[in-house]
Amino acid sequence: MTRKALEHGAVNLSQGFPDFPAPDEIKQAAVKAINADVNQYAITWGARSIRHALAAKLERDGVRIDPEREVTVTCGATEAMISTMLALINPGDEVVIFEPFYENYGPDAILSGATPRFVSLRPPDWRIDMKELEAAFNSHTKVIILNTPNNPTGKVFSDDELTRIAALCIKHNVVAVTDEIYEHIIYDQPERPLRHRSMITLPGMRDRTVVINGMSKTYSVTGWRVGWTVAAEDITAAIRKVHDFLTVGAAAPLQEAGAVALDLHADYYHGLCASYRERRDLLCGALEDAGFGVFVPDGAYYVMTDISSFGYVDDLAFSDYLVEEIGVAVVPGSSFYSESARGAQQVRFAFCKRNETLREAGLRLQRLRAGG
Ligand code: PLP
Repeated sequence: MTRKALEHGAVNLSQGFPDFPAPDEIKQAAVKAINADVNQYAITWGARSIRHALAAKLERDGVRIDPEREVTVTCGATEAMISTMLALINPGDEVVIFEPFYENYGPDAILSGATPRFVSLRPPDWRIDMKELEAAFNSHTKVIILNTPNNPTGKVFSDDELTRIAALCIKHNVVAVTDEIYEHIIYDQPERPLRHRSMITLPGMRDRTVVINGMSKTYSVTGWRVGWTVAAEDITAAIRKVHDFLTVGAAAPLQEAGAVALDLHADYYHGLCASYRERRDLLCGALEDAGFGVFVPDGAYYVMTDISSFGYVDDLAFSDYLVEEIGVAVVPGSSFYSESARGAQQVRFAFCKRNETLREAGLRLQRLRAGG
């Protein structure tokens, strides 16, 4: 869709990358590291500075880890996920994945030799049917992949849901692999307090959780490709082996900048959330005005929408019309489901964009109301 957006001069609200600058102090830290000649391979499982900065950050959040034995720095959360899966999975294992899902999870399961088992998150509030979830677990289940705050739905899993998932993991001897890349992007409200809770903090989950995270979203540097895993020593040892053979290591100077980023003051994270809240409200308002059914997200920077009022045969036809005729690029809903039909009346918008970009998209979308 990014390619089509360029071809048609469309406002690109498809892929999740910011069109605004990364924070200055992080960019300066990267420049400084390059100028200081931190330009050769870092330790394969990550430079000491970023591993220790991560441990200090997690300690502030109440999670104690050993930065020497429980962290692996990877080329983005993307590599963290496939390295984890290749480390944990044996052929014939099964992996539970919630759908709609972030597109990589199914292929990651298949590449590592597992069979994915999909469990629905049901709109409008992306509820889990606990009976369906329980039925997805069996003696072959090795891993459940969890993404909270969630792409594409914006769901933030509740403490109750996490507790029930943890109980199933413990009962069936399953590892929870939790993609927490949107950890800092949550739209808390006084009347409905929301917070991010990591699965690793739940009783009994410390040694059966792999936390996946990275710099891309929190620090608006998706092109840097710096991510990490946090897991118990035995799991980390296996992840480090796979990681070493896949990529050797993440970019050394950018890991140094990562150490600086992880040490940023709490104000940075408050500012991040406040600016995303403004963008969310701006885009959701424009989408409602244009006639979309809007599933307002509680976290992350995407909005799933219902397009059934527009009368298109499916999400692909509608997305093509949007990019070619209206000038706005989105991701067709079917890309987030194992069966295309389930996403045939949904499309996803990304709002990690400048307010001007979102306003321009809103103006163009008004033409939908006027019948194109
Ligand atoms: N995980 C989720 C849920 C995402 O939405 C994305 C990017 O859109 C990624 C991982 C990719 O992260 P990274 O850039 O660190 O590889």
